[in-house]
Amino acid sequence: MNTQDYIALENQYNAHNYKPLDVVLQRGEGIWVWDVEGNRYLDFLSAYSAVNQGHGHPRILKAMIEQAARLPLTSRAFRNDQLPLLARELCELSGYEMMLPMNSGAEAVETALKTARKWGYQVKGVPAGQAEIIACAGNFHGRTISIVGFSTEAQYKDGFGPFTPGFKTIPYGDSDALEAAITPNTVAFIVEPIQGEGGVVMPPDGYLKRVRDICDRHNVLLILDEIQTGLGRTGHLMAADWEGVKADMVTIGKALSGGFYPVSAVLSSREILGVLKPGDHGSTFGGNPLAAAVARESLKVLVEEGLIENAREMGAYLKGRLERIGSDIIHEVRGRGLLIGVELKPEAGGARRFAEALKQEGLLCKETHQNVLRFAPPLVITRQDIDWALERIEKVLMMP
Ligand SMILES: *Cc1c(COP(=O)(O)O)cnc(C)c1O
Repeated sequence: MNTQDYIALENQYNAHNYKPLDVVLQRGEGIWVWDVEGNRYLDFLSAYSAVNQGHGHPRILKAMIEQAARLPLTSRAFRNDQLPLLARELCELSGYEMMLPMNSGAEAVETALKTARKWGYQVKGVPAGQAEIIACAGNFHGRTISIVGFSTEAQYKDGFGPFTPGFKTIPYGDSDALEAAITPNTVAFIVEPIQGEGGVVMPPDGYLKRVRDICDRHNVLLILDEIQTGLGRTGHLMAADWEGVKADMVTIGKALSGGFYPVSAVLSSREILGVLKPGDHGSTFGGNPLAAAVARESLKVLVEEGLIENAREMGAYLKGRLERIGSDIIHEVRGRGLLIGVELKPEAGGARRFAEALKQEGLLCKETHQNVLRFAPPLVITRQDIDWALERIEKVLMMP
């Protein structure tokens, strides 16, 4: 079977809920992936930051195979010998007191929202059924009905209502708008330190600090969604570390498994997660020993191989070089660490055709929104590999 055969099969039998680049990948190693025709590509997306540790990292692969052979799933009806170790290691690394394991990012976000509501009723004393949660315009927190209900992206919502009440949105990066939107019934504010899907949108400097202060003054929980920005991507363990801000709850996922398996978690305090009692919330696969073993090794690789520092250094280098490309169609280069967005001017005719052209040159990335190219290679990337990528990027961004 060749590329066209696989595409035809997928189009016939698989729902068309994505519009992928027409490359059919078969194999990956580190920053490289190969398609079914044997062509090699540099992966400049990393599965939306799920593959921070690089494709097929040998240490994570080994941990996965060993645990799969021993015991992959117990359900939480019984205990297993991996989850407690993951919980301790993740809390010690992140500085939070407790964690709650789930599978996908959306589930971690749902978990944080449910916990915030329960905290609001039990601890803050919000009248039953009145809890409010504030989110930001341009957010991306996942695809469940509750979550898309407070998206401001029309396509994410169209045809999927009615939605869960109790949410409102304010402009991103505007701390005054947060203060104005808070009422006595507000239990939480959920926000991304950098809006990844929204187009690598950066808030103004000091935003998270101001938001932290406002949440403290109004007894509102600050939920940071670090599913894309966390685990080293921006050059700190968490993107909020750039401002020294600690959240009340943090959601992580994606790179928590190095791309091997869906693993997500909520990090928080004993007081906040303590509002959940046995039976309140759960997941058949959440916290399973295979996930926990894979996540433990994925975290060790991040730290022991210096990937967080590498993201900071390589990100600064890549961003600096991108800023110096003398192309008339670049509107702005922005981002932190190895999460970089290149916004093109409207007259460039959309970012998609540049992503297609980069694919032809052997570099895989994806447009996000109409005019933004997101560059987010695995954090194992070297300066040499970045130079290789820059040659192609410069060529494509200079095309007519
Ligand atoms: C990807 C992402 C999610 C959703 O994660 P899934 O695993 O796709 O459910 C939530 N929040 C942010 C910021 C993300 O980037």
